[in-house]
Parts: sequence; structure tokens; C-alpha cells
Amino acid sequence: MNDADCIFCKIAAGQIPSTKIAETERVLAFRDLHPKAPSHVLVIPKDHYANATELAASDPALAGDVLAAAAEVAVAEGIADSGWRLIANSGPDSGQDVFHVHFHVLGGKPLGPMVS
Ligand code: 5GP
Ligand code: ZN
Repeated sequence: MNDADCIFCKIAAGQIPSTKIAETERVLAFRDLHPKAPSHVLVIPKDHYANATELAASDPALAGDVLAAAAEVAVAEGIADSGWRLIANSGPDSGQDVFHVHFHVLGGKPLGPMVS
């Protein structure tokens, strides 16, 4: 269920280095290479799904695991109380760049309006 050309599949397999924050059998959290906030962590299922639509339709339990991991990352980053944002860009209008579903955990400063 993995894509040989997918950068996040390679990160999940340890073939490309990343700064890991948390890991379970099926989920990985690692720091974004170009952080947009003091805390910017990406949470992914290790299996390849193109976007949140595919993940939720194919494996809703795994989607729940990813959401739970994102909340645990927010606690571990110390941003659960000050506030944090969870974003999954999905499809063309969202500006999604990497087509392996990932949830951005953002926080550590006031984040401003959600849609610009
Ligand atoms: P998207 O626009 O698809 O929602 O977000 C993709 C995110 O992946 C961007 O925030 C970008 O900085 C991050 N990213 C792209 N390539 C890499 C990489 O090789 N390693 C890490 N850690 N983050 C990456
Ligand atoms: Zn992938």
C-alpha cells in the first residue's frame, strides 16, 4: 500500500530522514521541513492514501488514529492549552503539494484567520 515515488512513504519507511516526534505501528509524526509556526508537525498514516477523502473512506479507524496522534502531539508540544490548528489540505483548491495525506499541527503563536 505504499508508493515508491512518494516522499512521505519514504519518510515513513526511514529512507528519507525526518525529525520524528511520535510514532506508532501505523502513524508517524515529524517536524515540517519549512515550519509556518513555532510548532509545525505533520501527522501521517504510514500507509499511502492521497488525501483525507481517501483515508476517511478507506480506513476510518486509521483516520481516527491520526486525529488522536495529532492531539497527542499538541499536548507534547505544549500548545494544547494555548491553542492549535489542524489542517489537511486535500485536492487542487486546497493547494495540497504532497499527495500522501498529512495533517498539519500548527501552534505556538496566534495563527490569524484560517482562510486567506
Ligand atoms: P501541503 O501543501 O501538501 O499541505 O504541505 C506539504 C508540507 O510538507 C509543506 O509544509 C512542506 O514544508 C512539507 N514537506 C515537503 N517535503 C518535506 C520533506 O521532505 N520533509 C519534511 N519534514 N517536510 C516536507
Ligand atoms: Zn505515500
